Formats: sequence, structure tokens, C-alpha cells
Amino acid sequence: MTLDIQTAGQIDRASFFHPFTSVADLMRDGPTIMVEGQGVRVTDIHGREYLDGMAGLWCVNMGYGHPAITEAIAAQSRKLSYFHAFNSMSTDVAIECAEEVLKRAPVPMARVFFGVSGSDANETQLKLIWYYNNLRGLPKKKKIIARKYGYHGSGVATASLTGLPSMHGLFDLPQGPFLHVSSPHYYRNAPDGVSEREFSRQLAAELEALIAREGADTIAAFFAEPVMGAGGLIAPPEGYFEAIVPILRAHDILLVMDEVVSGFGRLGTYWGSQAIGVEPDLITAAKGITSGYFPMSACLVSPKIWDVIEKGSETAGLFGHGYTYSAHPVGAAAALATMKAIDEQKVVANVAELAPYLHESLKRALGDHAHVGEIRGRGFMVGIELVADRATKAPFKPELRTGRQVLKAAAERGLITRALGDTLVFAPPLVFTRKDIDELVSKFSAAIEAVE
Ligand code: PLP
Repeated sequence: MTLDIQTAGQIDRASFFHPFTSVADLMRDGPTIMVEGQGVRVTDIHGREYLDGMAGLWCVNMGYGHPAITEAIAAQSRKLSYFHAFNSMSTDVAIECAEEVLKRAPVPMARVFFGVSGSDANETQLKLIWYYNNLRGLPKKKKIIARKYGYHGSGVATASLTGLPSMHGLFDLPQGPFLHVSSPHYYRNAPDGVSEREFSRQLAAELEALIAREGADTIAAFFAEPVMGAGGLIAPPEGYFEAIVPILRAHDILLVMDEVVSGFGRLGTYWGSQAIGVEPDLITAAKGITSGYFPMSACLVSPKIWDVIEKGSETAGLFGHGYTYSAHPVGAAAALATMKAIDEQKVVANVAELAPYLHESLKRALGDHAHVGEIRGRGFMVGIELVADRATKAPFKPELRTGRQVLKAAAERGLITRALGDTLVFAPPLVFTRKDIDELVSKFSAAIEAVE
């Protein structure tokens, strides 16, 4: 490294436009600069080591520096560093990767389209859905339903689809054909005394009323994450998808599962769809497909949709969509090595076995804490919502920035968490052990005590 430790922070502030960052915070506090990672730990420029409770950004599922994945990337770069997939071009690794992804699909899928990020994959899904309904002779059937606090990406269309007010704000996003229904946030949104099942029925009734109001002939698809991540770590209440899916089916509305976080094992099943018991028409994957080692995404397309695209192609001509880096051979090699490692290291079983321990350990340590409102989630996705008053669920005053204070206190103790407002979240690498969980819980408890 040529960067000088003393000036690295100043150069960062002077030159680097960070994504999803408060410029004011960056200018005040400076960046945290990581330089190395090994297993479940990363090291910053000052040599301080952190247990990574977030697997980077919910993606480094196999841990850092995995020998087989890094070697596959290096070997493919040497052999064929790039070739594209436009106009019927292909590569041996892309073909193998497509076959291996489809083999692992939770329901029979006909084809997989590759991109480079979760955002572009969801943009692809939207275009595919509109293309499909045009080919079916249903040009009016175009509206898309998503959920408040759902997160689907940062592009113009996917940020509009996303239900986070902070992402709309000053950006002047087109409202487009996007509709948002209530978030299934039982702790925050369920009326007093209402059971999870009853709450789910209420949300299903809201969806049904929206469809009736708009007209089913105008609605194309419903997007959902199996467990909502960036919007506050919200797992579906009991009976939620059981109530929602039949309504979609009855109205010929496609179900798109956004598995950018949950795909490839995070919920203790290979796919989040399996954890919540749904059979999607389209699946979006990214992050875990290469364990975050190479930018890559995948859209899995069901036979019902593919048949229409294939049959329509004689008249429709070229499928006019794609990216320079779609099916990048180095990404495909990384994905193949990742999928092999997931199988060989049995990490999905590891999550299934250790997730209850993670949730119970956090509940044992913090469940009765005066400022812990709820500990929730599923698999290796857990959120701890801090509140000023447990009895009333009153939040802390936003200006206190309690979540950020806890995040900083955790970092000082060598633990990485993420603050979504005052909900602190963990999505550790899937290779986490019982010992790693003990360390996470002990450091996190100390951080919470330090902030009081
Ligand atoms: N969808 C979900 C569920 C996500 O969590 C994310 C990113 O966190 C995205 C889409 C967007 O992915 P990317 O940041 O790779 O564009």
C-alpha cells in the first residue's frame, strides 16, 4: 500500500464521493478505512481488527480471502479475462454457471439472465415483466406493487420501487407505475391486541382492496424480499405470504422474490423463498452468488414467462436489453467456486443449526434491557430495535442518533454492525461459528451498555 496512514482520511474526504453516506458525518468523523480481510474478520488501516457482523453489506457469505474463490477469480482472469454475451456470444464458464444456478433453483426455472448488481437485476425484472405482458397482448397490465420499507435498489426505477422515503426525497424520482402497500411490520404497525395471523389477514385485505381499486388488468407484479433487510429487518408475520400469494394468483399478478440478500443460504435454506414457503415466478439474486467477491447478479425466469418470450421472439426480434458485463467470465468463475464452496462447506446447514443460537443468545443477553424494544428476524438476519420506552415503544429522539452511537461503540470494541435508524442489524458470514456468535453478543452488549 502506498497510502500514508496520516493523510488517507484527508484524501478520502477530499476526493471520494461515497454511496449512502452523510457527507456531514464523513467530514466530521472521517472514514473507516479497511485494508485486509481474512475469514470473518477485517482489519483497518491502523491495524485494528473487527469481527464482521454484517458480512460486508450482507454479502461476504463465505468469509474473506476464501482460497478456492480467490484462486478461481485469478485463474479465470488469466485464462479469459473478459468476453461478452451479446448477439449469441457465450463463454464456457457462463454456460456452466447458468446451469449450476438453475440446478439450485427452489422451483423449476427456465433461464437465468446475468447482470452485475441487485439494482440492475431488479431493473431487468421490471423490463422483463413489461415485455412479457406486451408479448401477451396485455399492454395495460403494467403496474407494480411493492411494500413500504421494501428495498429493491438504487436505479431510477428500482429506487422508485423501493419503499424508503429517504431514497425518494430530493431525487425527483418519477412515481411511475409503482404502488406501495403497508409494510408487514408487526411490532410497529399491528393494532393493539391483534395476532400475527390477523395482522396478515388485514394486510392481505389491503392488497385486495388496492387491486380492486386499480383494476387487476392494470397490475403486473408484486415485489417482495422474503425478510425485509435495509428497510429495518422485518420478517413476515405468521400467515403473511399464505394470505398474499393466493390473491396474486387469482389476479394473474406475478410474484417476484427479491433474494438479493436471502439467496444462497442466508435464511438457513438455499433460498429465502423456501424459508417462507412460496413459489415465485421470478427470483432476483446478487450478493451471495459470488460471496461479494465479484459484482454479479442473476434473474431467474420461470418456464411460464420464458415460453412467452421464446415464442414471441420470431416477431419481436432482438431482446434489446443487457449489460457489457452481463455473464462476465470472471464473475461466472467466482459464482461457480462460491456455489461449490457453499455445498462442500455445508454452510446452509450451518445457518439452520446456528441461527436459533444467534437469536436466543441475543435475547438472553438483551431481551430484558430497558431500551431494547424488539429482537427480530430469521436465519442469519437479525435486528435489534432500540426504543426510549419499552412499554410505549416510543422511539428515541432522532437527533440523539442512538443507533449510530451504538454502531460507533461496537466498532470501538472491534465489532461491525449496521444502524438502520435505531435498529441495529447483523447479517454475519454464513461460516460464523458458535464462538463467533458469543463474541458478537458480548461485544454488542458492551456497546449498548456504553451508550446509556
Ligand atoms: N435488493 C435487495 C433486497 C437488497 O438488499 C439490495 C442491496 O442491498 C438490492 C436489491 C440492490 O443491490 P445492489 O446494491 O447490488 O444494487
